[in-house]
Amino acid sequence: MIPYGRQTISEADIQAVVEVLRSDFLTQGPAVPAFESAVANYCGAQYACAVNSATSALHIACLALGVGKGDSVWTSPITFVASANCALYCGADVDFVDIDPRTYTISTDKLAEKLALAEQIGRLPKVVIAVHLCGQSCDMAGIHALSQRYGFKVIEDAAHAIGGKYQNQAIGNGRYSDITVFSFHPVKIITTGEGGMALTNNAELANKMALLRSHGITRDLAQMTHVPDGAWYYQQLELGFNYRMTDLQAALGQSQMTRLDEFVSQRHALSQRYDTLLADLPLTLPWRQSDCYSGLHLYVIRLHLERINKTHRQVFEAMRAADIGVNVHYIPVYLQPYYQRLGFQSGYCTEAERYYTEAISLPMYANLTMADQDYVVAKLQEALT
Ligand SMILES: *Cc1c(COP(=O)(O)O)cnc(C)c1O
Repeated sequence: MIPYGRQTISEADIQAVVEVLRSDFLTQGPAVPAFESAVANYCGAQYACAVNSATSALHIACLALGVGKGDSVWTSPITFVASANCALYCGADVDFVDIDPRTYTISTDKLAEKLALAEQIGRLPKVVIAVHLCGQSCDMAGIHALSQRYGFKVIEDAAHAIGGKYQNQAIGNGRYSDITVFSFHPVKIITTGEGGMALTNNAELANKMALLRSHGITRDLAQMTHVPDGAWYYQQLELGFNYRMTDLQAALGQSQMTRLDEFVSQRHALSQRYDTLLADLPLTLPWRQSDCYSGLHLYVIRLHLERINKTHRQVFEAMRAADIGVNVHYIPVYLQPYYQRLGFQSGYCTEAERYYTEAISLPMYANLTMADQDYVVAKLQEALT
């Protein structure tokens, strides 16, 4: 099976993990802060908080921004469920803003319309989570301008986007948002097995997230309510979690960081190759926004169903039958039974639902071979005719 995504592991990566295994610390040692610095420096962010998944990072990002009961968090329906679930973890409500028909990320126009209505009824969101679908940045300047006008905070869910750029600057620099979150799941751009990170330029948010990832506990005298009882002493200041990343994971991540640019440029070479090879098929190919350099986590095609004698499902199944691990990213979140029980109904975001009926993710990962890619293209051509 040619999967839609997979990790690229080198001997150096293996060696980095083995070194940690032979060292004094498997967790809470020096590898985690070293990995945090590597990512923060790469992105041009001041603070980084490594955690055990992007889902955890989204959760503590929401908590650090004060999301709680009675608040509303808005995101795109075309994302992994974690982008929405994080708000529910905090007791807040979630709402969805439809996607742009070209980029498939949250539509700034739809967001502006929905904000104007929300202002009238006094239900403005506390946070908007902008998801950089496939690795291409959302219209962050536009979203930022709206955040200033309406007073909401912004989280970038950049699970797909490490190594990408927006307006010629690294995604994660926080120019247009409060917190940016990365995922290091093996299908993403770089991996730590499981893992995530939250970046910010705000010291207070960084401190809050650092507390929340480890039970809300501090050993920092400056943060304590009184002088320590002794050298053993620590204080729990918040209700936190065990969301820590291990040193094994961080060492792998830091080793992967040294090849991040290479991974992304390999993805770009493959993407350009797909663009050329698929140009004459009845498909919409990924749109390249001029001010973006995508991390290219995913290569999503849309079927022109009116020009094809098969259904979306038949094309998908033909590819799977050829041992190609195509996928669909994503089912609109609010169509999930859990969200339907919260009251969302189909038809809520029409662009998102149309996208869902046509989208297929083709294999895309740094070490996908050209021979495998040619096979994918040949099988797709077959499936479409
Ligand atoms: C993968 C992903 C997540 C969750 O990442 P984990 O590290 O698996 O928790 C969140 N948001 C998006 C858009 C993702 O693709």
